[in-house]
Amino acid sequence: MHEYSLACSISEICRDTVNAHGLANVERIILAVGPLAVVHEETLCFLFDEVAEEYGIGRPELVFVYQPLRARCRCCGFEETIEPPESGFREIWHNPEGAPLPAQCSSCGATELEFPGASRFDVEGVEGETADDAAGD
Ligand SMILES: [Zn+2]
Repeated sequence: MHEYSLACSISEICRDTVNAHGLANVERIILAVGPLAVVHEETLCFLFDEVAEEYGIGRPELVFVYQPLRARCRCCGFEETIEPPESGFREIWHNPEGAPLPAQCSSCGATELEFPGASRFDVEGVEGETADDAAGD
């Protein structure tokens, strides 16, 4: 299951951060999610609760930060940011009802568009208390 391996990767990154920064307690994990990342939020949260416990990192909250779509033209290099439509962008099996991705560069009209980072799914930050913070309470 795709979400299960994501939950493991997130927990691993989180545990490394805990060790590297001496965090006593992780409160939030900030995730950067591209507009074409195929991630089922509910499934991931559910699995993450279990996996996080196995990794001994408590029960941090997952915060999903959805990124806008970036389009770059391979012909003229023009770049723009496109706000996702309410129904999301269309991906064959992920969201068949969504709006189609833009097909043309709005600067030169070429159809050679690429979407850098559109499928990204990254841990952007781990927030928590250090041992010092906790001692100060
Ligand atoms: Zn162009």
